[in-house]
Amino acid sequence: MKTLVFSTQPYDRRFLEIANVPHRHKLEFLEARLSRGTASLADSWDAVCVFVNDRLDAETIQRLAEGGVRAVALRCAGFNNVDLDAARSASMQVVRVPAYSPHAVAEHTVGLMLALNRNLHRAYGRVRDGNFALGGLMGFDLVGRTVGVIGTGQIGEIVGRIMQGFGCRVLGFDPRPNDACQDIGIEYVDLPTLFGESDILSLHCPLTPDTHHLINTESLAQMKRGVMIINTSRGGVVDTRAVVEGLKSGQVGHLGLDVYEEEGDYFFQDLSDHAIPDDTLARLLTFPNVLITGHQAFFTHEAMTSIAETTLANLAEVETTGKCQNAVG
Ligand code: NAD
Repeated sequence: MKTLVFSTQPYDRRFLEIANVPHRHKLEFLEARLSRGTASLADSWDAVCVFVNDRLDAETIQRLAEGGVRAVALRCAGFNNVDLDAARSASMQVVRVPAYSPHAVAEHTVGLMLALNRNLHRAYGRVRDGNFALGGLMGFDLVGRTVGVIGTGQIGEIVGRIMQGFGCRVLGFDPRPNDACQDIGIEYVDLPTLFGESDILSLHCPLTPDTHHLINTESLAQMKRGVMIINTSRGGVVDTRAVVEGLKSGQVGHLGLDVYEEEGDYFFQDLSDHAIPDDTLARLLTFPNVLITGHQAFFTHEAMTSIAETTLANLAEVETTGKCQNAVG
């Protein structure tokens, strides 16, 4: 299929080109993000291939359809950045990678917890600077602590299993409880109980109208003082301004983010020579007990291989059958 690949970094291109050997799709790679302003670049292409921060709103989809695009291949699981109603009206297939390596995301999540708890990010800089003092680096034992997992699907389940391995009690909240989680003793509770009892809160739900700003001033007030919050799901699940206030007051003791509400303007780019115009992000970066990574939780060799293979197989399926088992909407 003639596919224009947006938001590509050199590593995307490398994995897609290897995975394309058996398919022989015609691929062209652009660094640009897909938006209303760049949609015309796809005129006369059959498909576009996009990532988490490409914006496929109704106007962009309409413009793509006018140019002849009939399929959108997401190189990710989440599809909150696509107006599915508009895609349906334009008879455009939207396909995704529903599972690639939930382990990659779960392991990164636990990495954030460990680094924040034991202040590894601070210790690294100190020791390199010849400062071997321990003041400010004290953590807490994980054994016996309570971890609340919101969204117990593929990633949340693995996070729960790993944290049980540390000797933690794991609570779960999910409108669709997962049998495998119940089998291993993850306790399903309501949200107020989960907020009230968790020492560590880990977010693994999709971004939907129900989960938008699930972590906000009101929910923060229900949590234990000094709670650790980890978000590797989608930025919009957390009201960042509310969490900044929580960090200032000490209500939030540690914050680990791999995603940020406004990440589309910053993530996946080297902006080290520029000032950050986003005051909320800049403020977050001033806290010693905040650790931010730039949407890298998925970024393992295994996940990149799987994403590339599934994406190109999805396009082949659309091309040959007009349908796809990984279609959304
Ligand atoms: P999944 O579909 O297997 O699990 C999501 C779970 O969330 C489901 O069990 C669902 O029932 C539950 N859920 C839905 N609405 C909820 C609500 N209101 N409250 C609580 N739970 C709710 O998805 P997954 O593969 O485990 O991925 C989880 C999320 O992680 C994705 O939606 C995506 O946003 C994010 N993600 C991030 C990265 C990264 O690199 N940071 C990579 C992959 C996925």
